Amino acid sequence: MTHREAGRALCPSARCAPGNLLIGIVQGDGGVALLAEPMAVTAQFVATAREGRTPEARFRFADACHRGGCAKWDGAGCSVAAAARAMADQVPAASFDCAIRAACQWHREYGAEVCGTCRWIVTERAPT
Ligand code: SF4
Repeated sequence: MTHREAGRALCPSARCAPGNLLIGIVQGDGGVALLAEPMAVTAQFVATAREGRTPEARFRFADACHRGGCAKWDGAGCSVAAAARAMADQVPAASFDCAIRAACQWHREYGAEVCGTCRWIVTERAPT
């Protein structure tokens, strides 16, 4: 199953794996700059990215949403999307264009509310 299959929603907090999409880069302030255009992740990118810190701590990736096949699915929706939405009163909201919005599972669940805090979600937080 890939993000290229018609009609599949996209998870915007997926793993660094060939065939997925690179959608954002973690910035110095701990937030993510989402790319205007996603980039296809190649095997070479994965190999290079894994030479450094955990790629999911430095980048955001998108893949098909696996719904009930994902540990983050709470039975009715994505628990990560719910957590992002719940951050609304704790972090500054940001408004920006997003290249995957039409297919994003989080946006399908919560609309613009979750987009406002999306940039503060990092898939793997580095150990402190
Ligand atoms: S939640 Fe909004 S900003 Fe984040 S990836 Fe989905 S559509 Fe884009």
